[in-house]
Amino acid sequence: MATRGRIAAARTTPLTPDSPLTAFPGVGDAMAARLAQLGLQVAEDLLFHLPNRYEDRTRLWTIGSLTPGIRAQLVGRVERADLKFGRRRSLLVSLTDGTGRLGMRLFHFSRAQQRQFVSGQWVRVFGDVRPGPTGLEMAHPEYKLVPGPEDESVTEDALTPLYPLTQGVTQGRLRAMIARAMDHLLTQVDDPLLGESFAGLPLPALHEAITVLHRPPVGSDVNLLASGYHPAQRRLALEELLAHRLSLSDLKRRAREQLRATPLRLDRAVLQPLLDGLGFTLTGAQQRVVGEIADDLAREGPMMRLVQGDVGAGKTVIAAAALLAAVRAGHQAALMAPTELLAEQHAVTLQGWLAPLGVEVLLLSGARKAQERRQIEARLESGDALLAVGTHALFQRSVQLPKLALVVVDEQHRFGVHQRLALLDKGADRYPHQLVMTATPIPRTLAMRAYADLDTSVLDELPPGRTPVATIVLDQQRRDAVIERVAAACQRGRQAYWVCTLVEISDQLDAEAAEAAAERLRADCPQLRIGLVHGRMKPADKQRVMAEFKAGGIDLLVATTVIEVGVDVPNASLMIIENAERLGLAQLHQLRGRVGRGSESSHCVLMYQGPLSQLAKSRLAVMRETTDGFRIAERDLELRGPGEVMGTRQTGEVGLRIADMVRDADLLDAAEAIAVGLGERSDDVRRVLSQRWVAGAERFARA
Ligand code: ADP
Ligand code: MG
Repeated sequence: MATRGRIAAARTTPLTPDSPLTAFPGVGDAMAARLAQLGLQVAEDLLFHLPNRYEDRTRLWTIGSLTPGIRAQLVGRVERADLKFGRRRSLLVSLTDGTGRLGMRLFHFSRAQQRQFVSGQWVRVFGDVRPGPTGLEMAHPEYKLVPGPEDESVTEDALTPLYPLTQGVTQGRLRAMIARAMDHLLTQVDDPLLGESFAGLPLPALHEAITVLHRPPVGSDVNLLASGYHPAQRRLALEELLAHRLSLSDLKRRAREQLRATPLRLDRAVLQPLLDGLGFTLTGAQQRVVGEIADDLAREGPMMRLVQGDVGAGKTVIAAAALLAAVRAGHQAALMAPTELLAEQHAVTLQGWLAPLGVEVLLLSGARKAQERRQIEARLESGDALLAVGTHALFQRSVQLPKLALVVVDEQHRFGVHQRLALLDKGADRYPHQLVMTATPIPRTLAMRAYADLDTSVLDELPPGRTPVATIVLDQQRRDAVIERVAAACQRGRQAYWVCTLVEISDQLDAEAAEAAAERLRADCPQLRIGLVHGRMKPADKQRVMAEFKAGGIDLLVATTVIEVGVDVPNASLMIIENAERLGLAQLHQLRGRVGRGSESSHCVLMYQGPLSQLAKSRLAVMRETTDGFRIAERDLELRGPGEVMGTRQTGEVGLRIADMVRDADLLDAAEAIAVGLGERSDDVRRVLSQRWVAGAERFARA
């Protein structure tokens, strides 16, 4: 009785956009919980739960017009039905409509079913057309016996939507709920962009877009819908991107207002002594970025800046300037690197620049002895030492930096938003300024989600005198010829890297492979001075080898991918990468960036072990065609998709429901233009749209 009363009540309560789903007939708490799995919480959500496919039952095909690969509906007459005994027993029903012949093949069927298909019986079928042994076939189509060929009632007046489902939620159920939501809510949905010109794009209004996507009228272009480029789909994708854009700038503004940082001065008095000792002058781009950082640091609110600059663009000196500003003000600063080797290199570089200015640089690495570590940590905790360089070791709980005012993170792509968050409880009572540096250009669509909290500076100019690296792709079988060329180049005073790669990510195996390669090269080229560096070596040994290479005491440095980031030896102008097909584009680009740093023209040889997969072929072709990091990153995104580019961790943070990173990248400009054009109305529009599209993002952008 009680149940009946509740359902009756539900029928009479008018639906509003924020009605709970239990307001729908027959939906109880259990069903609501299942729908929540699909991200559906309130009635309006149903309107934005879009089909991922459509079926066209609006027309009947003739058999003669069918081609393999399409999904079609038609009516045909049974000619005969035969049992076939192939690998699997099947029933083959031959249908004709006067224009051709179609086989309908059933693998599971009852005697009763078999008896239905008497010669002359009319059947309506709907299914996938594919080639069979004796002509076109449909395997297990939906079928229905009909009285005759003129069965007009079978066709529908709109394409049939197929919705994403979850356990316990059927197509029929969703279609019914969505139809009801359409009937009651369509006129109530808030369209804050009504009358907007969409930056000149010919896009429909919200109501129209929703209607078209749930009930595409007869004649709608199924292929266009499948591609995601239908104007109705673009209308919603644009709205979603705009929602993110608006809510992020709002969050950024609020973070600025709420968080306190220590204002730092990066003025002439601080900067000039550093510049005087460099031995080069900053490029225009470097000066501009240092200026942007100086402005950020001077504020009460924390700097949150991402510096993007291709490999070799000169990011380290920019970091040095910012670090110096903190130390000069008597505060602590930390530089974080993704690998031990890079941390060590940075420590050496910074020491070279900052020690003459009386600044001590402490290297805190995971590989140090426990006692040494404790000493360093104690000095940082007491505030006696100000500048720390390290890897993720800096994140460990035991490290306290009570006067921390600035954190620089180098090669950002290895650090996630969560790791940046961990910096918050490093002991300081103020939020540290954050400077993030990356050589991996992040396509804008990704940057928007994964680095939403950061302003961006672009270092778009390389230091003078660099020559582009010529890249050659060769089969591993040509190894001997390559070795000959390397040996000859080294005899002429050039230095080279020989990079070994492995499938497994294991320091142990990597090290063994590099050792074996070094042995072989030593045997092949006794006249060369060959060094070896890999991740299993003690830091001091690695550093010694790197120093020797830098000083010219080693001709050919055999290395694992530990040299991927940051290593800087300008005289090295040749790089050989073995099994280059195993590496991703970002990694190859990083590696190649180790050469082409001096004035000598540089070469990179990518050796591969055939046969190559299509993906590997495309990657190597990209590397041969361009040295432009942005171009490479965009291609990487196209080839692999955003989840993989960012690592699984960030995939969820990219989290767009309708817009697609690659496909809809061009809509970002439109979203930007609309956001700017909204002016005063911006807050109202944001409230509506972020409620609809961005729920949950608040947490995220606190990073
Ligand atoms: P990345 O941006 O890849 O971190 P680095 O900071 O390692 O680049 O700089 C690459 C090399 O270029 C280093 O040897 C560095 O000292 C040098 N360099 C940086 N800026 C300049 C400049 N303005 N003029 C000449 N050389 C520079
Ligand atoms: Mg660097």
